Amino acid sequence: MTEKRQFQAIKGTRDILPAESALWNWFEQTAREIFETYGFRDIRLPIFEETWLFARSIGEETDIVSKEMFTFFKRSEPEESPKDLMQRLARQPARDLREEDLRALGDLLTLRPEATAGSVRAYIEHGMYTQPGNVKLYYIGPMFRRERPQKGRYRQFYQVGAEVLGPSDAPAIDAEMLEMLLVFFERVGLTKTTLYINSIGCHECRPKYVELLREELRKVKDQLGADSQRRIETNTLRVLDSKLPHEQAIIEKLPRISERLCEACREHFAKLKDELKLRNIAYQENWRLVRGLDYYTRTTFEVTAAGLGSQNAVCGGGRYDGLVELLGGPAGIKGIGFAIGTDRAILSLQESGHLPRLPSLEVFVAWMGATAYPVAVGMARKLRARGFSVELPPEEMKFKKSLGLADKLGARYALIIGEDEAASGTYTLKRLADAQQQKFSESALLEHLVSERGQGR
Ligand code: AMP
Repeated sequence: MTEKRQFQAIKGTRDILPAESALWNWFEQTAREIFETYGFRDIRLPIFEETWLFARSIGEETDIVSKEMFTFFKRSEPEESPKDLMQRLARQPARDLREEDLRALGDLLTLRPEATAGSVRAYIEHGMYTQPGNVKLYYIGPMFRRERPQKGRYRQFYQVGAEVLGPSDAPAIDAEMLEMLLVFFERVGLTKTTLYINSIGCHECRPKYVELLREELRKVKDQLGADSQRRIETNTLRVLDSKLPHEQAIIEKLPRISERLCEACREHFAKLKDELKLRNIAYQENWRLVRGLDYYTRTTFEVTAAGLGSQNAVCGGGRYDGLVELLGGPAGIKGIGFAIGTDRAILSLQESGHLPRLPSLEVFVAWMGATAYPVAVGMARKLRARGFSVELPPEEMKFKKSLGLADKLGARYALIIGEDEAASGTYTLKRLADAQQQKFSESALLEHLVSERGQGR
């Protein structure tokens, strides 16, 4: 029986069609080129990893891990739900885990909601910490989060991200990474951006601050909404992220981390700002920028762009100095990274109208007649060998029709080859924008097209 139903892309996912994918490819290719000039190298990671990897690194109490992950079982489904299993095991010290628990954990897989955890896993697994200096990686690809879909927020979305891992945590690393990010945004024409920075302290000073914040929040608990009330106990810093209008005045009066940083973190943050000034990078400090993920330490940052409404963050990132050790790697390895949301960056570019001129169809070969066809096939091949985008109609068409099609396809030129042209070896090149026509021999034609392209015409 034939299926009557029309299939559709799953809610929160979408197709990037050729009309738009050229823009995406250009965006990603520009990132590659710029990141490579800063010494970053591509890493291609699996799309799914052990659930536990994300739970450990991102944090059980974060929105991502507690409700947004697409998780599935490698083998048969056990009686305990993934959430119960993880919550039960998260409370136990690692050494007390039983073998069957470990096996059950290993059976639980998740589509990656981000790629820092996978990058760090790969870094440790392949002993990249033995490489000299800092290891600089970048990745490009899809991420998956079960969020409520809306403009700029999808369940399958794309990120371009970078990580620096190694023994040094010099603020110059943070600053250079931000420089690279902004150079990239400028190059692609994403100009109406704002960089926000903050420091959320380290394992020394942050717990003390969080404790203080929790105490203060408990005092005003009754005035907060349900989400914030819950977060006081589960993910205290996230209360600062709240967008609820009536909570803003309360939050503004809370103690600020910048006043509670330990000496080393204070100095790190001050140096970072010096480094940014040195590079002429404009920024705004935002003490409430804590980011949702547990692994961040010290520097956090976010970049917002115009034209996106409420989902206006196009990039987020920060330091994660303890993550390598937390995931079983050697102590003393520091890290910092960012992830750009490609969907949103592209949306912002489209809204601004700042779009590059991307390659489109250059030559449409209009042929007619049995003797013209082999010549047309040969010319198409020669033009393509020189890098031109060429369309060769697979069936014979009257010139009028094929020129009309060339126009509709947006070709720059039509190359007209009829039986006379085939016999004489001289072809007519028609520029479709102004209908200007010129006759050329084969070699003169190729030369002419190459030189026109060289002059950007
Ligand atoms: P995060 O990993 O949450 O720091 O996100 C980094 C960037 O990825 C954000 O600034 C967004 O631009 C983008 N992003 C995160 N979640 C989504 C989503 N569900 N849909 C589209 N873009 C997203």
